[in-house]
Amino acid sequence: MEDLRDILAGSGFAFKKKFGQNFLTDANLLDAIVRDAGVGEDTTVLEIGAGAGALTRALSKAAKRVLAYEIDASLKPVLAHTLAGCENAEVAFGDFLRADLAALEEELGSYRVVANLPYYVTTPVVMRFLEEAKRCTGLTVMVQQEVALRFTAQPGTADYGAVTAAIALKGEARIMRRVPRTMFTPRPNVDSAVVCIDFVPGRIPVQSEGAYRAVVRCAFAGRRKTLENNLMNTFRLPRERAKALLSEAGIADMVRGETLSPADFARLADVLHARGIA
Ligand code: SAM
Repeated sequence: MEDLRDILAGSGFAFKKKFGQNFLTDANLLDAIVRDAGVGEDTTVLEIGAGAGALTRALSKAAKRVLAYEIDASLKPVLAHTLAGCENAEVAFGDFLRADLAALEEELGSYRVVANLPYYVTTPVVMRFLEEAKRCTGLTVMVQQEVALRFTAQPGTADYGAVTAAIALKGEARIMRRVPRTMFTPRPNVDSAVVCIDFVPGRIPVQSEGAYRAVVRCAFAGRRKTLENNLMNTFRLPRERAKALLSEAGIADMVRGETLSPADFARLADVLHARGIA
């Protein structure tokens, strides 16, 4: 295939910073990402942020089917060129955050997400799949290095946060490879990493995912406060009640929420859920 940079230049395409358009062109790296994602001939892929279609094309060679979303309709002619002959790939133009995920899942069946997104949409997109998806088997996302550290952080570290705990409920996040900024056109100001999150149903058993999310939000609401104080504020509980609930969940009352493991959050969520508090 013609060099992607030539196709872009030939089509008169202008990169849009507001959409975080930093494209990959290196064929070896693209193939490596497809391998990282574990995409095979039985895999249906939902790609978010097709860009100029280099990753879409690499995915289409390995996958059963690729449905790619792209917000920027001015990429239509470029994508028509890049994806010529890729019969199992199609592009839907629109903002993925506004897409009807339930209807998409109905159409796709079981699928895997692969996305190289701008930093400001990565977390909302990942959260969407963690909270709403029913048929997603996992996510492979290119993120800024520091976001990769947040996704894979251990309890009690500065990077550990609400997103880490939300991911841990569904699967384990692993950094597959680091991708230096020099691999992108145009070159961004930060380095990136490919992160895989394979969904494991029932990984951390919890009665109510909603209660788990409420507990996590509460724990990180005031990061420097004790969990007891955060519980009192969030759920409007007297101190003695908050202490008793923590004790019932086997959690010391003076801890800060950021030191709790996802399994601790799940136990506390079960206690609050059973009492009708969360
Ligand atoms: N996948 C391509 C690659 O790897 O070279 C492009 C990656 S580029 C970092 C991100 C792409 O996501 C851009 O083409 C941008 O227009 C698109 N994008 C940004 N926000 C989006 C959204 N909310 N929904 C769909 N696509 C979006």
